[in-house]
Amino acid sequence: MFSPQLSSFSSFFLSATYSPVASADRHPPICENPPPFPTSAPVSRPLAMSLEAETKSFVSKFEYSDEDVNKAVKEFLRQMGEGLEKDGTSLSQIPTYVTAVPNGTEKGLYMAVDLGGTNFRVCSIQLNGDTTFNLTYTKVAIPKDLMVAKTAKELFAFLAKQVELFLVTHHGDHFERHVRRRLTVSSPDGFKDENVFRLGFTFSFPVQQVGINKGTLIRWTKGFDIPDAVGKDVCALLQTEIDKLHLPVKVAALVNDTVGTLMARSYTSPGKTGAVLGAIFGTGTNGAYVEKLSNLKKPLTGEYDNSTGDMVINTEWGSFDNQLNVLPNTSWDIELDKTSVNPGIQMYEKRVSGMFLGEILRLAILDLLKNPKVAFFKDENSSSNDWKSTTHIAPNSSIYEQWGIDTAIMSVAAADNTPELSILRQELESTLNVYSPAHDDAQAFKAIAGAVARRAARLAAVAIAAIVLQTGKLTDPESKDEPIDIGVDGSLVEHYPYFRDMITETLRVIDGVGEEGAKRIRIGVAKDGSGVGAALIALVAAGMEKNTSTADYFRELRSSAPVTLTSVMEDDAADE
Ligand code: ADP
Ligand code: MG
Repeated sequence: MFSPQLSSFSSFFLSATYSPVASADRHPPICENPPPFPTSAPVSRPLAMSLEAETKSFVSKFEYSDEDVNKAVKEFLRQMGEGLEKDGTSLSQIPTYVTAVPNGTEKGLYMAVDLGGTNFRVCSIQLNGDTTFNLTYTKVAIPKDLMVAKTAKELFAFLAKQVELFLVTHHGDHFERHVRRRLTVSSPDGFKDENVFRLGFTFSFPVQQVGINKGTLIRWTKGFDIPDAVGKDVCALLQTEIDKLHLPVKVAALVNDTVGTLMARSYTSPGKTGAVLGAIFGTGTNGAYVEKLSNLKKPLTGEYDNSTGDMVINTEWGSFDNQLNVLPNTSWDIELDKTSVNPGIQMYEKRVSGMFLGEILRLAILDLLKNPKVAFFKDENSSSNDWKSTTHIAPNSSIYEQWGIDTAIMSVAAADNTPELSILRQELESTLNVYSPAHDDAQAFKAIAGAVARRAARLAAVAIAAIVLQTGKLTDPESKDEPIDIGVDGSLVEHYPYFRDMITETLRVIDGVGEEGAKRIRIGVAKDGSGVGAALIALVAAGMEKNTSTADYFRELRSSAPVTLTSVMEDDAADE
């Protein structure tokens, strides 16, 4: 299957380990006439050395040199440009109709919901106007039968019901007042629009967005399958069900999680300029950045506010370089792609994100296990195994199943700096059913996992550098010496030790960024990004409804008293 590599591994192996010269001084020569029954050959040291050599060889296959990185940045810039000009390119460069980022002075109370896969989150966010916020949220698992419901109505009615429950529980006063007013006013449209919560809807499925609160579902992913919803406007689907319950809620904005992250980072990061990029390194990877409208050459169909001269672009960078001009491609990458549900696409994502890193590692580990000449997770190591028991893998170990290694164990491996790697060895036993792994087994596992993650971080730096270069901030005399803020979110970047440091280290060697540039690029985790970000986009949308330009609206918000729940309630009381 991996013949080119196997042959190079075995030649490495033979020369490094089975050379009689190398082993003769410590071990008796191997008997020319083997006995008729197996004896325990004195092999543990030579095999352990071979494991070390093999590990080095595997690790070297994940190297992505400074030169490779620089070449990839240029290609990323080229593919970004292509995506700004026309549809159907590898980087989709989708306009989001969001034309400004906040600066932390925005205020108000908003709602946000997040449908991203397994859970549905409902929250309300009080933006305090001083880069801080208060967030109240509830989370509920989506019932499995609704993920494959016959009609969209069933799912969206469930979502609207959760919004109602949230309002009753956390904003009971406002809710009751609203209900009372509705019952006493003849027309349902007869009360003030300002009394209605603006809601940002984070919907992490592929959507053709045609306006700030309008977008049609292209296809379901992540186990959802409700054919009836495909091609429909998901905001309208949610609004219809909310209206049936007579809730004081308007779906004001449709939000991609990358855009939410960008907005959240912009709001919370200190300094007077907004963030330039929001990036996700979780199950998948993607980024959204602030682009000049003048660079966006392809036609825009929906309405938008052009007063800022900017537009946030959702790059969909998971599909960067599907054509493999610059991406690394080991035999394990090839194998992973071939057995994936979408061969040939999301090629960058398949080398960078949480869903795939564990699988790349698993395929490499399997190769190491298959090599009969290397003692890896095998009995032969037990003489150097201080746990004094036999090393073996249970036949039902998930190492033998597709997706059987979760990327989370790579973080455990990287974080374990104990002399004996005892934490990782315990983890190997508890999650992968590898019993009594030896110290050098764990070392090999840690080294290969580290190499896979390091390559991912270096590739992450490619996207980040290209976008920073594209914005021109590094050379703009107006923003000289100012930090360039980037918001990131996702378990990989949040939990993998030193992932951000590895990105920064790579940024330093990139032409046009260098030491000085890398120092200015500030990568911060945007906590609760989807909630805060969606609230901020709902705020922008509210400004658009008022027919004020976004720039003016932000200015107005900063200088005037904001609409808060308190003022909404006071209004209500005054009306009664
Ligand atoms: P989502 O992308 O669905 O919003 P997350 O950001 O939590 O969710 O990302 C989930 C992905 O991160 C999974 O692929 C998982 O394997 C990976 N992951 C979870 N925990 C860790 C960890 N501690 N270190 C590295 N990766 C992790
Ligand atoms: Mg997420």
